[in-house]
Amino acid sequence: MNCAPNGALALQKLGFDFASAKGVRLENWETVDGSSLEQIRNQDISQADKTIGAPFCAIHRNDLFQGLLALARLSDAKPEDEGRSIDLVLNAKVVDVDAEKGVVRFADGSSQEADLIVAADGIHSTIRPFVVDPAEDTSADTGLAAFRFLMPDAVLQKSPAAQRLLARKANGVGLYVDTASGGGEKHITWYACRG
Ligand SMILES: Cc1cc2nc3c(=O)[nH]c(=O)nc-3n(C[C@H](O)[C@H](O)[C@H](O)COP(=O)(O)OP(=O)(O)OC[C@H]3O[C@@H](n4cnc5c(N)ncnc54)[C@H](O)[C@@H]3O)c2cc1C
Repeated sequence: MNCAPNGALALQKLGFDFASAKGVRLENWETVDGSSLEQIRNQDISQADKTIGAPFCAIHRNDLFQGLLALARLSDAKPEDEGRSIDLVLNAKVVDVDAEKGVVRFADGSSQEADLIVAADGIHSTIRPFVVDPAEDTSADTGLAAFRFLMPDAVLQKSPAAQRLLARKANGVGLYVDTASGGGEKHITWYACRG
């Protein structure tokens, strides 16, 4: 996935190590007409760490998770690092939350109490209705979908068409837009992963 500089900055402040997580620095963002392969725009994003404080990176989602897990499990947390070492409870499905009393209840009948509950349970959130009145929840399906896959370089090299794309590709993001469909949202974006 690509991690924009604002996200990379937040991760850096948590002590996330992009080098160990094999993050790839992205230097440019090229927008291309997907039919003619003409360049529409090329943005230089190589100076993001100077202007924003962190680079624009690409990182494998699992490497991001592993890096975050390592941070959460820091074994050398000192008393002054309060909150740095986190007790993880895995495979625990939340079924109910009392936001007023600060209680989270799990499917196995157990529960946890906390002063602060962060509900980060995704787009089909179980917890959202306990905090936001469903009648006031304005989130709606946009009809858009994204699919992501990894392809080894060796496979790309076997295709003459892909070789032509590789030949023009700089060390950054290529965004190929389907201009033929009359301004729809269809596009392909590609960039290197793990170096
Ligand atoms: C194909 C694709 C490509 C994307 N590419 C990028 C990208 O390049 N860069 C980028 O910044 N973003 C990207 N995104 C968006 C990004 O993945 C999401 O914005 C982000 O994952 C949302 O994080 P989240 O923590 O809110 O939810 P999620 O990542 O969905 O995590 C929610 C977690 O809560 C758990 N959970 C759900 N319900 C319960 C429950 N009842 N009890 C316990 N646990 C529960 C789930 O198992 C999951 O682990 C992409 C998304 C997709 C689908």
